[in-house]
Amino acid sequence: MVKYNDILSRAYKAMENAYAPYSNFFVGACVKTKDGNYFIGANVENASYGLTNCAERNAIFQAYSNGYRQDDIEAIAIVGKGNTLITPCGACRQVLVELLKRDTPIVLGTKDEVVVTNIEELMPMSFTSDSL
Ligand SMILES: [Zn+2]
Repeated sequence: MVKYNDILSRAYKAMENAYAPYSNFFVGACVKTKDGNYFIGANVENASYGLTNCAERNAIFQAYSNGYRQDDIEAIAIVGKGNTLITPCGACRQVLVELLKRDTPIVLGTKDEVVVTNIEELMPMSFTSDSL
C-alpha cells in the first residue's frame, strides 16, 4: 500500500532497534504527524517483564513528548519481524484509545499484507475520560 510506505518502512527500521532479549519478538512502530514529522518506537524489554514497553507506545509517547496531540497525528504503523500481522496488545489499545482520534489510521503490516484499521475497530466500548 503505497500510501503508507513511508511509515511502514520507518517502522521496519525501528524494529531493528528492538531490545527483546527475552521474547525475541521484534516490533517496530512509526507515528506520522500531519506536519510531516515521524516518531519511531521499538519494543524495549526488561528482566522484570512487566516493565517492558511496546513499540507503538514508545512511538506515540515520543510524538506526545514532542508536543503533538491526537489532532496532529495522521497515522501510526506497527510491524513485526515475522509474517503475522501485529495488533496492539490490550495495554497499548487503552493508551491508543486516549492518544489517537477514533478514526486515525492504524496501519498493520507484514511483507505481504497491509491492513488499515483504527482504535474504534480495535477497542469498541472502551473506557475513556468520557466514562469518568
Ligand atoms: Zn502493547
